[in-house]
Amino acid sequence: MSIELINVVYIVAAALFVFGLKQLGSPATAVRGNLLSSVGMLIAVVATLFNAEILTFSWIIGAVIIGSIVGYVAAVKIEMTSMPEMVALFNGSGGIASLFVGWAALYNFDNTLFTYVTIVISVVIGGLTFTGSILAWGKLSEVMPSRAIVFGAQRIFNGALLLALIVCSVLFCLDPSATSPYLYAIIILACVFGVMAVLPIGGADMPVVISLLNSYSGLAACAAGFAIHNNILIVAGSMVGAAGIILTNIMCKAMNRSLSNVLFSGFGAVKQATRVEGEVKPINAEDAALILEAAQSVTFVPGYGMAVAQAQHVVRELGELLEDNGAEVTYAIHPVAGRMPGHMNVLLAEASVPYDQLVEMDDINPRIDKIDVAVVIGANDVVNPAANDDENSPIYGMPIINVNQARTVFVLKRSMASGFSGVDNPLFFGENTRMLFGDAKESLSTVLNELK
Ligand code: NDP
Repeated sequence: MSIELINVVYIVAAALFVFGLKQLGSPATAVRGNLLSSVGMLIAVVATLFNAEILTFSWIIGAVIIGSIVGYVAAVKIEMTSMPEMVALFNGSGGIASLFVGWAALYNFDNTLFTYVTIVISVVIGGLTFTGSILAWGKLSEVMPSRAIVFGAQRIFNGALLLALIVCSVLFCLDPSATSPYLYAIIILACVFGVMAVLPIGGADMPVVISLLNSYSGLAACAAGFAIHNNILIVAGSMVGAAGIILTNIMCKAMNRSLSNVLFSGFGAVKQATRVEGEVKPINAEDAALILEAAQSVTFVPGYGMAVAQAQHVVRELGELLEDNGAEVTYAIHPVAGRMPGHMNVLLAEASVPYDQLVEMDDINPRIDKIDVAVVIGANDVVNPAANDDENSPIYGMPIINVNQARTVFVLKRSMASGFSGVDNPLFFGENTRMLFGDAKESLSTVLNELK
């Protein structure tokens, strides 16, 4: 196939990416959007295989088989709660792939200074994305401590690393070759920089970091696309880069943080939240059912614990029953509830909760004081009033769903343990809060049976 024809096919693939991405914006069309984008990628890959410059298919076929098996097994086996870890590993794979593509482009004969610059960019961003993502995976899966790891002179060390990277990059571009010592230095420095950049970021900020690394993997792919003159790689890479940075921005807003605060606040003193003390008022499922039966308006606030308990189906059943009983039922979704953006939306969609009952944080908060019962299902950080009231709290300033302002709050969790950020929650001691201890699915099933 001629390059011109391949480029025409790439335009079709790029259009499918755009339409697919657009449809991913709503849960109702997301599955179709995903399929459209996948078809676009398949078309792009097939068209690329028709490139006359391909020297051998045996390596490509071998890699496709291995990659497909690994991808399939990972997608089937992975728990929904471990999805962010998988995304982190995918980002890392994207990064290392771009590093290798950039490196391989050095074996082309018609490289210009511009190409060498794009090669350096793909190697640098690809390398730091790779190691940064591996570290993010380690923190998320808790194979290493998830807290911010800081040491003296960290900023100076990172600054020196960055300076060394710039110097080596310039020296490499002045005398480029695939075996240049400056290239090896760039690769090592970029990989170390990825580790150093993620090390001082605490676990609670990992969602933002993953999203940012996702953006980086896109930028690295885009640069690699320029390095090997591949238009679809440029288009796909820039889309991932832009989507990642938009998501990063949305998440920062959801936590009322600036990106620089997320990336660099670990360097400051670690804040110590004010200790929370008071009386906890437990409730049993039978009494909770009686209160719910009398409620005119109920809002469910799901969090990570709902995903762990896999309680989404029984939540939906309970919601339907309460509606039949005349109550207005809503589901209040915090943008960073769970362990990945959209985590709660996906689970509730899986349980066929109607989309129009899903309410965003900014829409529920102004009217939450009119809600009879807010049922918090395995959520903790995203409903922690310390974010509003305690200036010493590490999560101070993060917008929350103000369930403490509802008339009655039920908190469903197994113990008094803290959430992802490790911060105590004064909500549990609130005057209008009742703690329903136990696995969320079991508790809700008992409530459901009582109501039936
Ligand atoms: P949290 O992690 O704050 O709290 C989850 C709560 O669920 C825990 O307190 C736990 O308490 C409870 N729980 C666990 N298992 C069960 C179970 N089987 N039944 C009942 N309860 C259970 O979750 P949130 O959703 O409130 O907050 C998300 C946090 O994760 C935020 O800090 C956010 O920044 C962070 N994060 C978000 C990501 C995202 O993109 N959404 C990605 C990565 C991190 P107990 O053990 O007592 O049961």
